[in-house]
Amino acid sequence: MNNSAQSAKRPHILVSNDDGIGAPGILALVEALVDVADVSVIAPDRERSASSHALTMTKPLRIFERRFSVPVRRAVAVDGTPADCVKLGILELLADDRPDLVVSGVNRGANLGVDVYYSGTVAAAMEGLFEGIPAMAFSLSHHDGPEFDFSVVKPWIRRLVPWYLGLHPDPSTLINVNVPAIPAGAIKGLRTTRLGRGRYLNPFDHRRDPRGHPYYWMAGTLEVLDQAPEADLVAVRSGWVSLTPIAVARTDDAQRERLGAILDKAGLCRPAGS
Ligand code: MN
Repeated sequence: MNNSAQSAKRPHILVSNDDGIGAPGILALVEALVDVADVSVIAPDRERSASSHALTMTKPLRIFERRFSVPVRRAVAVDGTPADCVKLGILELLADDRPDLVVSGVNRGANLGVDVYYSGTVAAAMEGLFEGIPAMAFSLSHHDGPEFDFSVVKPWIRRLVPWYLGLHPDPSTLINVNVPAIPAGAIKGLRTTRLGRGRYLNPFDHRRDPRGHPYYWMAGTLEVLDQAPEADLVAVRSGWVSLTPIAVARTDDAQRERLGAILDKAGLCRPAGS
């Protein structure tokens, strides 16, 4: 077997994130993946955390080929959002080299519970699903302090990505993985979880600038409202790696039927004005 036939067997993974192409978390992700896959990196040129699923419609998207410190097929910085990067990657930049999987992260901070609605990391993975490609997101949780050691996530990437590819998953579900920021030996193992309910207390820090004008800085501390062991927030705080399958389909079918009957009974399904 020649080299091209061997390399053709390796899966092709599109990597993105929301912390920017220069973030240490995306480097850790690529370092873990190059052992098992060919990797293309297409990521924002700067931090775009909490940009959710925003797309850039009112300006062009510029691309910048980058060198990456580990061997990848291609590394491209885009002056857009995480969702822009994955959409542009699949439909244009990698149009002749379609990825088998999209992997986003490793995010600097947890994406648990309600976080997933704001997260650019999760949105980048979700964009892969929208384009028909299975996807995973990895995040490193933390409790206090600025230090993040992304090496604790690497063995979980090396275990979970080949496992998931081997399932030949269909692109209807996102695999959202959060690893607790504790020493690797202290991690209890992995649990499948559901998105837990939580909310941020005191999200706005009210300060004054040097000229006395007020400004607000969003932060807050998370209050966990769902204490069930299968809640993702609880699992990570208890020292478990959390794996949550998140469905793309968001329609509430039970409510669709219930509200349909109520609307019909109230006469609100007739043409307006009749
Ligand atoms: Mn981020």
